[in-house]
Amino acid sequence: MTSKYEFEEKFRDQVLRCSRCGFCQAVCPVFGATLRPALNARGKMLLLKEVMDGKIDLNDELIETLFQCTTCASCYENCPSGVNVPEIIKAARKDMVKAGSCHPAFKGMNEVLDKHTNIYAEAEAEDFDRKKNQQAENVYFVGCVGLYREDESTSATLDLLDRIEVDYTLIDEVCCSGVLEDVGFPIKDHLARKNIDAILATGAKTVITGCPYCSRTFDNKAQYAELKERGIKVIHITQFLQGFDFGVTTDKRVTYHDPCDLGRHCGIYEEPRNTIRKIAPDFVEMADNRESALCCGAGGGVRGAYAKNSIAMARRRLDQAEAVGAEIILTECNSCVHNLANAKLRKQKFKIYNTPQFINELMEEAEEG
Ligand code: SF4
Ligand code: SF4
Repeated sequence: MTSKYEFEEKFRDQVLRCSRCGFCQAVCPVFGATLRPALNARGKMLLLKEVMDGKIDLNDELIETLFQCTTCASCYENCPSGVNVPEIIKAARKDMVKAGSCHPAFKGMNEVLDKHTNIYAEAEAEDFDRKKNQQAENVYFVGCVGLYREDESTSATLDLLDRIEVDYTLIDEVCCSGVLEDVGFPIKDHLARKNIDAILATGAKTVITGCPYCSRTFDNKAQYAELKERGIKVIHITQFLQGFDFGVTTDKRVTYHDPCDLGRHCGIYEEPRNTIRKIAPDFVEMADNRESALCCGAGGGVRGAYAKNSIAMARRRLDQAEAVGAEIILTECNSCVHNLANAKLRKQKFKIYNTPQFINELMEEAEEG
């Protein structure tokens, strides 16, 4: 049978496999923020079944449902039938874009990346006053959020790399453009080429990324396959740092937020905890952690397109941090830091950091005595 839509050719069996059990509802951050059953994974699968039955088309009327998903994979993790909802939604979004239906925010993002080298259309990134495009053992790849929105966190991360004497260079990096695949568009070949060429020119054997999404993109996407073919290893900074001993500790109560892109999507749960336990004897887990961690609400383009709901999702996560009495929330993704910090209420006294930023602060304090 020829299908009208490509998502159906790939995922028909999975959509039909959804038994409507509803296990996904409790874990869906979009449902948690909106309480609308149509927006959880089951609602989305029911809708796509109707599309497959020819009752409705993938058109503008479905934008709000199908583009409002952080691709957090919490539903997939908890689905007894193994329905890979985020991948199905990403495939359906591709069909929608092809048919001319797309959320304006994502259409805009795609257009921005045709003309600019970062998702914010900014002319210049922060100059971190570091070695750039030089020969080094490692490239440190910052990512758009770290370059243009969370530059303090990036600056502190670079200070930490300097403190522990890592041989690295920055490059004239451009957006990896992996996020476009989440919202129905292809990764930009010309941007991938620029990054690959800049990395290869340094002679580095390892790319350390500050962003878990860039890490996933470099590691898994066909446009970046040349990196692996040329023997270059891509790791996230949390993997790199776990081998170090920093010689500092905090007496504050610390908790850790698992970014979806690092946790559920890459299976990296213990590496950040190994590092955090060394520096924070009073480390506590939030009620939902590791595979069950609540999404901060920033992913899948939701922060840009549905800002209010995105903040509501972050608030639910912050409530969990408050419930365990955390004074410090550490995470490993600038997007999570950004969204959680934007959602923090004035009465909430905890501080939110990227782990390397926090370690750097402790080392700085220790040096100052
Ligand atoms: S948990 Fe899986 S099978 Fe159950 S309703 Fe959700 S997507 Fe369908
Ligand atoms: S991927 Fe996350 S946001 Fe999307 S439907 Fe599943 S649980 Fe909800």
